[in-house]
Amino acid sequence: MSDLRELYQEVILDHNKNPRNFKKLESPTHHARGHNPLCGDKLELFLVIRDGIVDDIAFVGSGCAISTSSASLMTQFLKGKTVAESRKYFESFHDLVTGKLLTEQAMDDLGKLAVFAGVQEFPARVKCASLSWHTLINALESASVIAETE
Ligand code: ZN
Repeated sequence: MSDLRELYQEVILDHNKNPRNFKKLESPTHHARGHNPLCGDKLELFLVIRDGIVDDIAFVGSGCAISTSSASLMTQFLKGKTVAESRKYFESFHDLVTGKLLTEQAMDDLGKLAVFAGVQEFPARVKCASLSWHTLINALESASVIAETE
């Protein structure tokens, strides 16, 4: 478990310092804003979906290291995936951070995202880690609304 903890810190620090896909997209097909009032995390998510595939995805915003790194990893992870897969990964990720038991397959599928298993010990941090994913779901519903984590 200590290996995962070290990896967790390393990955989070890295993605917080150099967030990937941190930009606005010019003509997104889907877009939503997310806000976690508990911590003050705010982000805006942009997607270009073509033929049911996440062709491009990016975000901007400001928040704590966990919300920023989670959004960064999520955008990296979802690029090239189908919308149906993205929804499935939302479920797996949510189970992961809330401490539900995942199948080995689901855990494998999450790859690097598995480092966020560490937040289940910190209930307040679960919202930070899942903000980008809740915003994703809202964006997919194409609702231009502000996602609240609660
Ligand atoms: Zn936060």
